[in-house]
Amino acid sequence: MGKRRQKPKWVKRIALNHIKQLISLASRVVKKDKERARRYCRLAIYMSRRYNVTIPKELKARICKGCYIYLKPGRTAIIRKKSRPKPHMTITCKECGHVSRLYLESKHLKRKKTEK
Ligand SMILES: [Zn+2]
Repeated sequence: MGKRRQKPKWVKRIALNHIKQLISLASRVVKKDKERARRYCRLAIYMSRRYNVTIPKELKARICKGCYIYLKPGRTAIIRKKSRPKPHMTITCKECGHVSRLYLESKHLKRKKTEK
């Protein structure tokens, strides 16, 4: 493991803006060009790792963890609301079948960072 230097705040802010732009671009092109949407999403994930910034939950939920497609309800994803055991939504990727869950109440979702 190498030393990881913390990126300055302004760099992170720019990176986050860029990430948001990429994801909104992906949302626009996914209708016509899925591969391009995937490329934007992959780039967004890559940037979040590279610059050590967290993608906001509601945006991150839009990217399929299986194939990186932009998840658009009705187009590339099926969204179902469930109420048990806790209120949440399941997002199923139509492209690869990956299912992710999005909990609607996030009060208790604060977790310690234990990533690698
Ligand atoms: Zn997928």
